[in-house]
This record gives sequence, structure tokens and C-alpha cells, in this order.
Amino acid sequence: MSRPRSSSTNGAVLAPGSEQVPRVAFVTLGCKVNQTESEAIAAGFGHRGAGCAPADADVVVVNTCTVTGEADHKARKAVRHALALPRSPIVIVTGCLAALDADGLRSLGEQVVVEADKERVGARVVEALDALGEAVSEATVPTEARPARARAQLKVEDGCDAFCAYCIVPYARGVPRAVPAERVVAEAERLAATGVSEIVLTGINIGRYDDDGGLPGLLARVAATGVARIRISSIEPGDLTPQLLEAASATPAFCAHLHVPLQSGSDAVLSRMGRPYDTARYTAAVEAARAAFPDIAISTDIIVGFPGETDAEFAETLAFARATGFSRLHVFRYSQRAGTRAADMPDQVPPAVRAGRSAQLRTLGESLSLGYAEARVGHTVEVLVERVSDCIAEGTTREYMRARVPSASAQPGRLLTARAERVDPGPMLITTRLP
Ligand code: SF4
Repeated sequence: MSRPRSSSTNGAVLAPGSEQVPRVAFVTLGCKVNQTESEAIAAGFGHRGAGCAPADADVVVVNTCTVTGEADHKARKAVRHALALPRSPIVIVTGCLAALDADGLRSLGEQVVVEADKERVGARVVEALDALGEAVSEATVPTEARPARARAQLKVEDGCDAFCAYCIVPYARGVPRAVPAERVVAEAERLAATGVSEIVLTGINIGRYDDDGGLPGLLARVAATGVARIRISSIEPGDLTPQLLEAASATPAFCAHLHVPLQSGSDAVLSRMGRPYDTARYTAAVEAARAAFPDIAISTDIIVGFPGETDAEFAETLAFARATGFSRLHVFRYSQRAGTRAADMPDQVPPAVRAGRSAQLRTLGESLSLGYAEARVGHTVEVLVERVSDCIAEGTTREYMRARVPSASAQPGRLLTARAERVDPGPMLITTRLP
């Protein structure tokens, strides 16, 4: 592989540890799982790449998403943008679009290397640097010290076989695969030892976690590392089992917040989507969670404008969301994705109608979030400090609400117990006071 050199400094053979070490940058699109995977790849390079802007890099890794047609467009744009940078970096493309359209991505330029297998991306980076004459290995790239993070994502599972009608993910990521529990626990121990206060167990469909006691068993084993807080990133309603809720109740570190994707509050739409539950089953799952954790925050994803969604069906979704009392709504406009069943369904909803429904549901989401936050006023909350500025600490409560705490001594990563005093609706921040 060769590339045109645009700067003389970049053309030199660079000794590890010198000022001009080769640099690797990451451009990550899409979901939290991609974010976690990019961080894991970057860690193999001593984090050197993670802190480098693409414009300064010799190799740019673009971690793509393909969940919608729009995501594909953004991914290709990111690759073209990287190729056009002045240092003419080699561009390694990974992620879901790399799994589905390797040839299309390769055709974007001769500097493009497509590697769909994320386990192999680190090796590809080393090959690229070798090809540039910048002989290094992952081990010889200098490590930059990083401050301990308050919160870390820990990937425990990849893949999904639910094949919801609108979703391309099962085609891109394949069937569910659990990260062996021993590996998860070893990583959790390492994170806890570096001062991480909250671990978020992440995956594409983590309810499918099936190694050694499944997700309930994993929760207990991660809790045994002594980490202060554990959160589950997202759980399908059918996976909110009595065993999982029992394990969560027995785990003081478990944060009483669950993200349970709903997608629609209309049974007819849920059926067309191929979702394996109806609203009654969803409600039963939420009620079971609330029986275990009375003040639990339940957030959700909803798609508006799925093919055939009528005004009446959308009204059912509005009513269901209001009645369920979500703490937060993530609203997505349906986007046709080639290769999915829904893309060929009749009665595609016009974009303007999708936009109008999205705006209505977002407005409802803001008022639900405000209602949930206001109900916490007067109560004690635990805030994980993420940043501090002018003696004001800002962070996240166990219920996944943003909160600020006036404090002269707070440090990122610390847990503060405070009393919720008021809610500022604009940025949706709870202001608290230390006792
Ligand atoms: S559960 Fe459905 S929406 Fe979620 S990743 Fe699997 S197929 Fe996609």
C-alpha cells in the first residue's frame, strides 16, 4: 500500500517515543456499542490515537453505522472527508456498514481498507503504519496518561436475531454472541481498579446474554468487583424477567434506571414491526420493574411514521407514552433502510407527516421528563460527578438525570449524596444541595 506524502515530517521513519510518533484517529458514528468498540481498539494503541484529531493522523479509523439510509450516507461522507485530509491518511473502515457494503466502501478510494471484524482492526492499523514506513507495533506506541473516567461502557454482547422489520442490525452484526463472563469480570475489575465509579453493561441485545448464569448472574459477578454503580444500557421488555429483577434488587450498585425500547404504543404497529410483545405485555414488564424499584426511571425509544401508521395508531402511541410515565423519550422518525422488510411495505408515511409526529412526541417527551424530575424534588439523589467548573459539579444521578451540585471540593468520578431542590426545564437539570 502506498500513499502520496503531503508533508516531509510525515515522510520520516519515526522512532517510538520521539516527538513525531505516528498517530491514529477515530471517527465513530452510531450507537454506544460502536463507541465502546472504538475505545477498546484505541486502548490497543495506548490511547495515543484516541486523543488525536483526524487532521493530524496518519491512519483514520472510521467506525460506521448502517441503521438507516441516512446513517449510510453519513458513514460514506466521513470516509470521503478523511480521504481528503491534508495528510492523506490511510482510512480503515469498520462497523456495520463495512459488514454490509465492503465493495462500495473500497470504491471510495485506494487509501481505503475495509475490515468488518473489529477484533482485527488493531492489526490492520499496525499493517497500515508499517506500510507507511512508520514501523511500530501496538505495544511500542507510547501511552498517554488518561485521567480516570467516571463512567465506562463495558461491552458484554454483540449481535441480534430478532429481525424486527425496520432493522438492519441482525444482518450487519449477526447472531447474538456473549462475551465470556470471565472476560467481562476481568475488565470490570480493571475498570474498578482505575477508579471508574460506574460501569454500563452494553450490547446490541443484552437480554440475550447467555454465558454462565445469563445477565442476572453477570450482574452479581460484576457487582462483586466492588464498583460503586452498575447500569444496564438497554433491555427488551421480554427480557425483564423475574430473575433479572431479583438479581438487580439484590445488587446495591444497580442503578434504578432501565431503558426499555417500546417503538410503538399501538398493538397493530408493533405487530407489523415484528416486535415480540404487545402493549399489555410491555405494561406488565414496566409494572414488575416498578414493583421491584418504586421510583425507577424508565426511558424508551419510539419510532414514528412506521409504514402504514395511521393518525389513530399514532394517537395510541401518544396516549400509551403518557400513561406509562416515561422518564425520557428517544424519538426516531422512521427511515427506510434497503434490505429490511419494512422498506418494501406499502403505505410509507410521507416525510412531512413523520416530522410532525416526531415534533408532537418530542414535546410530550419533554413534559414527561420534567414531570419525572419534579417528582424527585425534595428527595435525596446520588450524583456521579463528571465535570467541575467554578465550584459547580455536574453529573448524573442513578436515575440517569443530569444534576448539578454546588461544591468547592468535588472531583470528577466522586459520588455525592445531595438533596434535589429544583428543576431547570431548559437544559433539564436538577439543582441539588449537599446536606
Ligand atoms: S431487537 Fe430488533 S431493533 Fe433491536 S437490534 Fe434486534 S432487530 Fe434491531
